[in-house]
Amino acid sequence: MSGLVVDAERCIGCRRCVRACGSAGIEVVDRLARPTQGCILCGACVDACPVDAISIERDASASGQDLDAYRDIWVFAQLDAAGSVERVALELVGKARQLAAVRGCRVVAVLGEGAGASDDNARLLMSSGADEVLRCRDDRLATLDTEVYARWLTSLAEERRPETVLLGATAFGRELAPAVAVRLRTGLTADCTVLEIDQASGQLQQTRPAFGGNLMATIVCPGHRPQMATVRPGIFPVPDPADGSSLTASSEGDATSDGQTSGERPASGAAADDVTEVKLDPAVSSRIRVLEHEPVDAGASIADAEVLVVVGRGIGSKKNLPLMRRLAELLGAELGCTRPLVEAGWLEYRHQVGQTGVSVAPRLLLSIGVSGAIQHLAGIGGAQTVVAINEDSEAPIFGASDCCVVGDCIEVVNELVAQLERRS
Ligand SMILES: Cc1cc2nc3c(=O)[nH]c(=O)nc-3n(C[C@H](O)[C@H](O)[C@H](O)COP(=O)(O)OP(=O)(O)OC[C@H]3O[C@@H](n4cnc5c(N)ncnc54)[C@H](O)[C@@H]3O)c2cc1C
Repeated sequence: MSGLVVDAERCIGCRRCVRACGSAGIEVVDRLARPTQGCILCGACVDACPVDAISIERDASASGQDLDAYRDIWVFAQLDAAGSVERVALELVGKARQLAAVRGCRVVAVLGEGAGASDDNARLLMSSGADEVLRCRDDRLATLDTEVYARWLTSLAEERRPETVLLGATAFGRELAPAVAVRLRTGLTADCTVLEIDQASGQLQQTRPAFGGNLMATIVCPGHRPQMATVRPGIFPVPDPADGSSLTASSEGDATSDGQTSGERPASGAAADDVTEVKLDPAVSSRIRVLEHEPVDAGASIADAEVLVVVGRGIGSKKNLPLMRRLAELLGAELGCTRPLVEAGWLEYRHQVGQTGVSVAPRLLLSIGVSGAIQHLAGIGGAQTVVAINEDSEAPIFGASDCCVVGDCIEVVNELVAQLERRS
C-alpha cells in the first residue's frame, strides 16, 4: 500500500511538516512525526522536512495499474466546423513536444475525421511536432458527438496505454475530457496554464489558477494512468512548421535519460508510415441526430488575433471606445477588454481577456488603462510583446510588459492615432 514513511532516526520533531500540511495529515507526538488519516500523500511535508526524514512509498498496485506500462504523450486533435485542426491542438502538440523531450518519449496526435477526409490534417500535425498520428476516418466521427468520441478515445487509450493525454479546453474538449477520464477511472485537471513533467517518473505537474486566481495550484495524478489535462486555447504558442530548427530550439531541449538530444524529431510532413489508421468499434453508434447546422457569426475571435488592443477601466468612459476602435483599425488589430467593461455593458463577453474570459496569444498586445489584475494576466501569458499604457507607474501590468508608457492613455492614444493616420 502507498503511504507516508517517517524515519524515526532522522526526525527531530520540528513540526515544519505539520505547518506545511494543508489537510491535517501529519502530527508530531513525543517529538516524532506520524501521519494521520487526513494524509492525502500530497508530499508537502516531504518538501518541508529539513532533515529528509519523510518520504512517500508508492505502490503501483494501489490503483491496480502497472504505471511503467504507460508511454507517450497524446494530444487530441479536435477539428473545427470546417474540418481543419483547431489551433489549440497545434499549441498542445508544440507543448507535448517539449514535455516529450524531457521525458524521452513520443508525441502522438489522435485525429478523428469523416470518411472522405484528405491527408492535410495529419500532415499538419506531423509538421507541427507529432511523431505519429493515430487517425480514424469514419463518418460517425464527422460530428463532434461526445459519446462516440469518448468511447473511441477510451478504447484506444485502453489498448495503447498513453502516459498522458492532453485536450484543448474548448467547449467540446471540456465535455469530452471528463467523459473519457471517468471511463478510464483516472484523474483530470481542467484549464491548466502551466505543464511540466518529471523526467524519471513521467508525473505531469499540472498547474492551474485556483481560488479565483489568487493562487496557482499544481496538481499531480500519482497513482493512475493516463494522466489527463485540458488547456485553454492561447496558453502555449503554435509551433512553427517543422524545419528542424524551430522544434529543436526549445529551452526544454535537455538531454533525455537515454542520452538522446531531446526535442529532436525528423523534419518531415506526414510520411505514410507515421500515420496509423485505427478503427472505431462497429457497435458504437450515435444517439444524436443532427437536423441542421446553424452557423453563429460571433465575429473574429480575439483568441486568434495577431495584434490585439486591450482596453480597461482606465479609458474612463464608453465614449472613448470609438477612439480605441479607431486605433485597433489602424493597427489591423482586434479589440479586447477587461472584465469590468463587460460587466458595465460596454463590450460583449467575447471581448473579455483573462481567466474567466479568453486566453490570447497575439504577436503584439497593446494594453490601455488596464491595471493588470492576476485574473487578467492569466489570459495574456501567450502574448509575444506587450506594450502597456497606464498613468500609474506602479501598475502591475507593467510587470508583464515589454514596453511601459506612463501617461494619460487618452492623450497617448490620440497622438498614436494621429501619427498612424498621417502615415496611412
Ligand atoms: C474570479 C474572478 C475572475 C476574474 N476574471 C477576470 C478576467 O477574466 N479578466 C479580467 O480582466 N478581469 C477579471 N477579473 C477582475 C479583475 O480582478 C480586475 O478587477 C480587473 O481585471 C480590473 O480591470 P481594469 O484593469 O480594467 O480596471 P482597474 O483595476 O480599475 O484598473 C484601471 C487602470 O487604469 C489606470 N488608469 C486610470 N485612468 C487612466 C488614464 N487616464 N490613463 C492611463 N491609465 C489610467 C489605473 O491606474 C488602473 O491601473 C476577475 C475577478 C475575479 C474575482
